[in-house]
Amino acid sequence: GIQQALASVAAGVGLRNVTKKYGSVTAVENITLDIPAGKYCCLLGPSGCGKTTVLRMIAGHEEISSGEIFIGDRRVNDIPAAKRSTSMMFQSYALFPHKTIWQNVDFGLKMQNVPEAERRARVGEILEMVGLSHTSDRKPTQLSGGQQQRIALARALVTRPQVLMLDEPLSALDENLRVKMRTELRNIQKQFGLTFIQVTHHVEEAFALSDSVVVMNHGKLDQVAAPQEIFSTPASQFVAKFMGDNNIFTGKVIQCAPDTDGTDLVELEIEGLGSLMAKGYCVQPGQMAACSVRPDLMSIESSTSSAPTPYANRVSARITGIEMTGYVTRISLMAEATGQELLYKVRTEDWNNETYAEGQLVTLRWSAENCVFLAH
Ligand code: ATP
Repeated sequence: GIQQALASVAAGVGLRNVTKKYGSVTAVENITLDIPAGKYCCLLGPSGCGKTTVLRMIAGHEEISSGEIFIGDRRVNDIPAAKRSTSMMFQSYALFPHKTIWQNVDFGLKMQNVPEAERRARVGEILEMVGLSHTSDRKPTQLSGGQQQRIALARALVTRPQVLMLDEPLSALDENLRVKMRTELRNIQKQFGLTFIQVTHHVEEAFALSDSVVVMNHGKLDQVAAPQEIFSTPASQFVAKFMGDNNIFTGKVIQCAPDTDGTDLVELEIEGLGSLMAKGYCVQPGQMAACSVRPDLMSIESSTSSAPTPYANRVSARITGIEMTGYVTRISLMAEATGQELLYKVRTEDWNNETYAEGQLVTLRWSAENCVFLAH
């Protein structure tokens, strides 16, 4: 059936030193990247970082300035888009409004001059696969947003591409539908065992969907890793900031000591705050660097508390705001010595309402283990 057919054609994608220039603007700079066959990969980053350009270069909609692109073991630099065995799904789904669902799904096969009988079989099969056989005579506007997305997927998959590209496919949807459709995309990808490459600027979406996340910054790759690794160990200040809520401290490297796990225990001198301990791969003492701590990995004590605690890092801060957002309560603070804004997040269940109030001076504390050293 179609499931085996799709899984058997899934191909990996390789980029070797790929650069894209638009006149004097370098949109993508010397990227080398491997996306394994059958995996879900998200290109993540802020507007203008080059993610759409990477997607379009793989699909063949954009010429590359230098480097090489491979789909499977085929070098595709000189192969036109229509012959690359990729398929693209867009934000608005781009369904033809005046064609029926059946005609929409059939379109790509018709373009490829697939014989009539085979077309009928393949369209029927894929519509059944996405559970929408009964809608084949309708027009796209007669379907819900979620159903339209499934039709767009069916249309993209019916040609049996080796790689499916998705350009912000969920960004037109409202939040609830977005989360539902994201689960559906992931399920279909797993079910078919296909290679999906998606562009998104939405961190949570990239985490939820991906086997591997590619974080882009100004046309370069800052980090390529599994979601959990990016979340726990951002590789740069840019990635740590892009996650949203991390507390980042910049300062000078004082000294490093090799730790038993192969990384270093690094001491940083933060102006006004004193010394902080972090874990990572050290650089030359004297160099400027930073460390990052997730707001949910800190804890808090009232400054009057005298109990000795094992935390390597302690910063005196004043509570400036307390927001209960549901599962999580967000506590905004300001470092007493420097005025740096900080964030502490705690499970609402664990937040002690009676003990803490806005305006109160407290101590934020966290371990070196939970503090990621960032060399750049
Ligand atoms: P967004 O999320 O806003 O789509 P992006 O990360 O996908 O952003 P790209 O669209 O790949 O970013 O653009 C990367 C850079 O290349 C930007 O600086 C953009 O202005 C530039 N750029 C893209 N297309 C062109 C073009 N056709 N001509 C000139 N510059 C371009």
